[in-house]
Amino acid sequence: MGFHEEEGIVCGRCRKPVQFETVRGIETIVRCPICGESDTLDAARREASEHTAHVFLQRALGPIKAGAPEVRYRFHAE
Ligand SMILES: [Zn+2]
Repeated sequence: MGFHEEEGIVCGRCRKPVQFETVRGIETIVRCPICGESDTLDAARREASEHTAHVFLQRALGPIKAGAPEVRYRFHAE
């Protein structure tokens, strides 16, 4: 039980820090307090770091990648 806010993971849609919940004492999940988007902490961490890399690449390659399809990440690093 219980949740806390840490790790600097925010909801990609709402830009709000996600809440952490421990399920059955074994698995930690993150959940957006606004829209309810949720996933396991591991998946959210992975997606947040992919988003960070994506933003970095977009800044570096922006003019070249213009017109590329928008990629949406459910979780971002703060
Ligand atoms: Zn949200």
